[in-house]
Amino acid sequence: MSEVLAPGLTRLADGPLAFGGVGLEELAEAYGTPLVAFDGALFDGRVAAFRTAFGPQTDISYAAKAFLCVAMARRVAALGLSLDVCSLGELRTAQAADFPPERLRYHGCGKGDDELEAALRGGVGRIIIDNLEELERLESIAAHLERTATVILRVNTGIEAHTHEMIRTAGENSKFGMLPEVAFAAARRVAASPHMRIAGLHSHIGSQIYEPRFLADAVEPLFELAASLSGVEIAVAEMIAGGGFAVRYRPEDPPAPAPEAIAQRLLAAMRLGAERAGVPLPRLGIEPGRALAAEAGLSLYRVMSVKDHATCRFAIVDGSMADNPRPALYGSYHHVVRADGPSTAVARATTICGRSCEADEMMTVPLPEDLHGGDLLAVCTTGAYTYSMASNYNRFAKPAVVLAADGAHTLWVRRERDSETLRFDVDT
Ligand SMILES: *Cc1c(COP(=O)(O)O)cnc(C)c1O
Repeated sequence: MSEVLAPGLTRLADGPLAFGGVGLEELAEAYGTPLVAFDGALFDGRVAAFRTAFGPQTDISYAAKAFLCVAMARRVAALGLSLDVCSLGELRTAQAADFPPERLRYHGCGKGDDELEAALRGGVGRIIIDNLEELERLESIAAHLERTATVILRVNTGIEAHTHEMIRTAGENSKFGMLPEVAFAAARRVAASPHMRIAGLHSHIGSQIYEPRFLADAVEPLFELAASLSGVEIAVAEMIAGGGFAVRYRPEDPPAPAPEAIAQRLLAAMRLGAERAGVPLPRLGIEPGRALAAEAGLSLYRVMSVKDHATCRFAIVDGSMADNPRPALYGSYHHVVRADGPSTAVARATTICGRSCEADEMMTVPLPEDLHGGDLLAVCTTGAYTYSMASNYNRFAKPAVVLAADGAHTLWVRRERDSETLRFDVDT
């Protein structure tokens, strides 16, 4: 089987692999493993592709939950994107990066009063409201602080994304958002309040959506609601169509839809929707996370041991479901290559296993027959939902994150110290 390289992986002159122009061995030696490397140029390239496809009229907001640290927030700010946050931790990270608050949007289906207050005090540009009770709490907090909250209503359009059920976020069985009739009542409530202002409507139907038409389908019900709201003199100036654009994880899968294809569908659905509803064309907003960050990241692991059992070969690595829970959580696949480059050895199916006290087999991939302890493996396409989902399971310390770009590397997040896994323990 010929070796397939993931985005951003290149070969150094003498054979071994590099990411962001830096040799993988060099990164592993400088920072240790497990390690997450992030190629800034790849991320910037994805942002540019979406911006070109959607044009300057579309507001592109990066979904922080895919991956955020202070340095990343600075990068997102410098690129002129908006930023979706959904926790105090993400908000504090953005604030530490001096992210322009008017370009922040606060999301989440269970925001506490402390979060609503922090968002208002911080001057967050948009608060995306998930339910009526939250709206009532926001109104009283805004009244108390004497601030005006700018609100976007999250609508559960009933459109189901054809994607894995764990990453589906609309449809009858989804907890997210308000049914259209509830959103209508919420909009009237906002319009009647001196402490709130409505900016628009929001829908996000899930993640890893391979077919742009599902995204286009989801704006239709938003326009039906906009038409009803226009009947009671409430204007919808902004319409956010969510994120969820797919990424290719398996080299043998078809390429994910190009930003142009998504933009064409979505922009056409916007024009048609506005025309049918008889309302002015709202400003479109999109919220990609995975599609911007996933391919820009790569994880490095050292092989601890290789075992041949009756039916399969296992390679145990020095990482685990603690630093990448995706395979254990929803059977995700990441392509894996050995960092030393081309090998004349025959490839054999090898199951990559973490070292946690769980059966955390990650995925089965072809790797050279002569694989052994000490080899370095690159687990590809881990820029999104990997470091951000890491835990301290088994009291493992979290890995470092390093920026690799143009042949140079800079530490973004240092490795957690083993002693720091004790930092919340109270000495009683
Ligand atoms: C997670 C999320 C996104 C980003 O999803 P991706 O699949 O990473 O693009 C966008 N909007 C909302 C509301 C989300 O919850």
